Amino acid sequence: MQVFKTIKETRQAIKYWKKQGLTIGLVPTMGYLHEGHGSLIERCRKENDIVGVSIFVNPTQSGANEDLAKYPRDFERDSKICSDLGADFIFCPDAGEMYIDPQAYVNINTLSETLCGKSRPTHFKGVCTVVSKLFNIVSPDRAYFGEKDAQQLAIIRKMVEDLNFDVEIVGCPTVREKNGLAKSSRNVYLSDDERKASLCISKAIKKGLNVIHSGIESSEVIDTMEAIINSEPLAKIDYISVVDAKTMQPVEKIQKDVLVAMAVYVGKTRLIDNFSYSI
Ligand code: AMP
Repeated sequence: MQVFKTIKETRQAIKYWKKQGLTIGLVPTMGYLHEGHGSLIERCRKENDIVGVSIFVNPTQSGANEDLAKYPRDFERDSKICSDLGADFIFCPDAGEMYIDPQAYVNINTLSETLCGKSRPTHFKGVCTVVSKLFNIVSPDRAYFGEKDAQQLAIIRKMVEDLNFDVEIVGCPTVREKNGLAKSSRNVYLSDDERKASLCISKAIKKGLNVIHSGIESSEVIDTMEAIINSEPLAKIDYISVVDAKTMQPVEKIQKDVLVAMAVYVGKTRLIDNFSYSI
């Protein structure tokens, strides 16, 4: 497995592989890899000749009040995981390699204005910008994203469609711990008590899945889920929302495919999770 820190060496390798007619798959990450990332890498391994994992803690997607320096990092461990899963290269540039006085950004309207975009107004602009840059650097045939970040996945799909990126976006199911907690690099921030408290999120999802049905008012689903989260003293709801699965706009009644998404603070850690419901 090769480790590339520069755009130039990455492009050289990609050019070489493409000349041989090999397909390239990319798994974009911010590192501190867990089994969720692992499932994306495994899927990518199955479907492509060359597997690349990018590890970059992207400054443009974090808000002013989010401390990027504290984001967990462990390159040695990440590197072993990638190598064990059969990745061919890691692209791990530093911030100076990716951004030199940037003036151009990629933004997406409407889709980025609900759910997480409401609480983190500049987040998806940073995501779209860095993903566009990664696509331009790696030129992947396929790129793999988790359904855990369902709004991000919908936004990337729309960006690729609107801007004619020649890449297939592959969505992968959320990987959870046995107790239901969605795997996340941020889970490392949770104390033992907070870990226990965070189970209210998967409990709320389970309950939401039980009550949801065609024709039910969204508010009824939301109220049921809110009651579970609100009964946990360490948890504070940022949002729970029922939105159209494609447009990410709120729906009042379940009459089409929807995404039920939520963000919950457990202590100071903001966790997101969701489920889909198809008519
Ligand atoms: P991150 O490093 O958190 O930016 O995540 C990188 C990619 O891994 C994104 O496409 C995420 O949606 C995906 N991902 C993160 N956690 C999970 C999970 N528990 N299951 C599946 N995919 C995940």
